[in-house]
Amino acid sequence: MKAGFVSLGCAKNLIDTEVMLGILKESGIELTHEPSDADILIVNTCAFIESAKEESITTVLNMAEYKKPENGKCRSLVITGCLGQRYGQELLDEMPEADAILGTGTFPRIMEAVRESLAGNRVVLVGEDTTIYDAKMPRILTTPSYTAYVKIAEGCNNACAFCAIPLIRGKYRSRKIEDITTEVKRLVKNGAKEIILIAQDTASYGRDVYGKPSLARLLRRLVKIGGLRLIRILYSYPTFFTDELIDTIANEPKIAKYVDLPMQHAHDGVLKKMHRADTRASMEALIKKLRERIPGITIRSTFIVGFPGETDSQYQTLRNFVEEQRFAKVGIFTYSEEEGTAAAKMGDKIPDDIKEERYHDLMSVQAKISEEINKSIEGQELAVLVEGRDEQQENIAYGRSYREAPDVDGQVYIEGDTDSRPGDIVKVRITQGFAYDVVGELIK
Ligand code: SF4
Repeated sequence: MKAGFVSLGCAKNLIDTEVMLGILKESGIELTHEPSDADILIVNTCAFIESAKEESITTVLNMAEYKKPENGKCRSLVITGCLGQRYGQELLDEMPEADAILGTGTFPRIMEAVRESLAGNRVVLVGEDTTIYDAKMPRILTTPSYTAYVKIAEGCNNACAFCAIPLIRGKYRSRKIEDITTEVKRLVKNGAKEIILIAQDTASYGRDVYGKPSLARLLRRLVKIGGLRLIRILYSYPTFFTDELIDTIANEPKIAKYVDLPMQHAHDGVLKKMHRADTRASMEALIKKLRERIPGITIRSTFIVGFPGETDSQYQTLRNFVEEQRFAKVGIFTYSEEEGTAAAKMGDKIPDDIKEERYHDLMSVQAKISEEINKSIEGQELAVLVEGRDEQQENIAYGRSYREAPDVDGQVYIEGDTDSRPGDIVKVRITQGFAYDVVGELIK
């Protein structure tokens, strides 16, 4: 029997997909990239915001087309992930195309859902999400072997007013340092050079199991692993970004001088309404400390415009903050109302045209800053992890330095590079900086 998979949403969801792929393979199911050739189709969904929910439903309906004999041979269509967790039975009732629903806490029971649905039983296996994978679980990487995500914790206790993730993924739960170390050792043995640590909030790692933020301790353990070239940390909540963590990043050459600190806003009144623990002053102090302690650090952040009640002057405060702090990379979202969140009950919604206006305004402010920062590194020499070659020009490859995370940041284009292969690490002198990407020449 063959199974096909579509994985939507974030890298945390992708790891659940990779574990489900491992379980299917171990159970004797063959994996296929061709949905028309699959007996079983699985869609690992995202339900973070409205647009993600719509994409998930559209994808399920597209896969359902392969249940028609003229298109394919699918006999079991399984919905997993955040949409399954959030809507369970209601989703199965509303989508006759689907044969089984799994939640984010029950993904290890994927074979049970497949067997039941092939036997003609439409099942819903959703419960409170208390699950987190471990190194013992089978996992098939879907990223190239030289780079791998490692989920160090699941769930979130921060309860930001706009966010549905705690409602879906449950309470924060860290994996143990030994378990993570075992997995990273295996990934490195299998060719991983870059390990990307992820969670809903990586800075809170260990607060539950070790009683205090322990990401620094974990990092000091992981850098000892031979063959590991780069550790990257994503999704860190500023409040729990300790001095110990800053020192560890500063002192350990294997740790990317790159931090991803979603801040969401900069006006104290809005931050308070968002139930964020930070203030403008505390975030400015953290950024100052990072830049003093780690020269050349790349800071990425994320902001929401159009949160309920956001006035023009509150938006202006955010705009000034972004202009002053000059982040290298910024993601901007328009506020999306999510049922069940505290913000959904708030009045004073901002009209869509105002949200769009603020979104485009802040994007243009940031594009100018990103370009200036990318131009300021012209002449610098960087180690670049090669990810591919330009299809048109044979002497151009591309990849990422410590300054670029996968999927969300730009690329480094490498001129004069005819030989390097994906996974190679080459030295590059930056010659041109643009708003999103940079260009450099290979140093032979
Ligand atoms: S930190 Fe806030 S935004 Fe991030 S997952 Fe937790 S509740 Fe959501």
